[in-house]
Amino acid sequence: MPAPVRSFVMLGPPASGKGTQGRLLAEARGLAYLSTGARLRREIEQKSPLGQEAQAYLDRSQYVPDELAVRLVSDWLRKHAEGWLLDGFPRSIPQAEALVVLAGDSFSAIHLEVDSVDLRTRVVKRRECSTCGMVATEASEQCPKCGSLLRTRADDSIEAFEKRLSAYEQLTIPAVSFLEKKGLLISVDGSGSRDEVAQTIRERLS
Ligand code: AMP
Repeated sequence: MPAPVRSFVMLGPPASGKGTQGRLLAEARGLAYLSTGARLRREIEQKSPLGQEAQAYLDRSQYVPDELAVRLVSDWLRKHAEGWLLDGFPRSIPQAEALVVLAGDSFSAIHLEVDSVDLRTRVVKRRECSTCGMVATEASEQCPKCGSLLRTRADDSIEAFEKRLSAYEQLTIPAVSFLEKKGLLISVDGSGSRDEVAQTIRERLS
């Protein structure tokens, strides 16, 4: 029987490169990809029932309730049983516990470590494609991937960033430790260029 395809989750503080590195790794390995943050922003734009539930939390730069995040991910995982990459989930111990129930130890958690001074510099330059969710830092107004409009995320102001960083420290760092104790964590220095970090991740996974 062929070995099951390894799946991944990308963890890291806001603007640590989770989206960029997650997409590169998913493309390289042919994995289904879900960014919970990009998906929530799209649902909010479309005013779907899920988007309406999530909006007040994103407006305040707070995490959505665990129950909502777990519901979103478990529905998605039902359609992508093998070979997936989750960007931005789990973000708390209850989410990490739920993922272990859903996926066992079939995944590795890649934790991108970036100094908070670098994160602040990155966040002010960050742009996201309004259509495909690609993350870019270039001054151009067009997505290099699909040609749609690049825009600054509403939660990328410095004030919103500080709130998200503090939620990360209080809620997500304990989930990182939880996954480390389970032997599922791979910590990577995320402070280099896009290509340098991608190379480090490739090396750590080989
Ligand atoms: P991101 O694009 O990953 O930075 O996520 C943007 C925002 O979406 C976060 O600041 C949270 O408000 C929300 N969000 C995304 N994923 C989760 C999650 N797993 N748990 C709770 N909130 C989330």
